[in-house]
Amino acid sequence: MNLQILDRDGWTMQCPSCAESITYTLINNQQLPVPFFYAEDCNDVLLRKTDQKLVDKVFAGSAGGKPNLKSLENLWHQMLDVAPSTGNGGRYGFWSNVKCPSCSAEMPYNDGAKDVEQRIFEPKIVLVNGASLIGDTEGDSWLINVLLQTTR
Ligand SMILES: [Zn+2]
Repeated sequence: MNLQILDRDGWTMQCPSCAESITYTLINNQQLPVPFFYAEDCNDVLLRKTDQKLVDKVFAGSAGGKPNLKSLENLWHQMLDVAPSTGNGGRYGFWSNVKCPSCSAEMPYNDGAKDVEQRIFEPKIVLVNGASLIGDTEGDSWLINVLLQTTR
């Protein structure tokens, strides 16, 4: 895939394992929950409108407009079952998280506490410089290019 480049303002953080600096940007999810997944083998992120429509449908069809957590968790796993392969031929994962581009150490999600509700209602998506943000189609997918704000 030859992805379009998406320039985003960003920051650096230090890798807790190798101390290299990691350049990243953030997407703030507005109306939660937003279904997205990190790749297991790289920092690509899957963020599809088709998945969001499934979520909207479940919310619309639930009593009081609030589906139970188990049905949302099941839906997230159904999305993963039909998700495309990553750019490296790997898979996206429910608990996958950001990995250091230098040493490949994966940041533990939520400091290692696997809280399903927090995972599903995650407000922030971390996009590492050079990662792909994969949407429904190639025209909807982007290569992330982080611009550091050196003047601030
Ligand atoms: Zn590292």
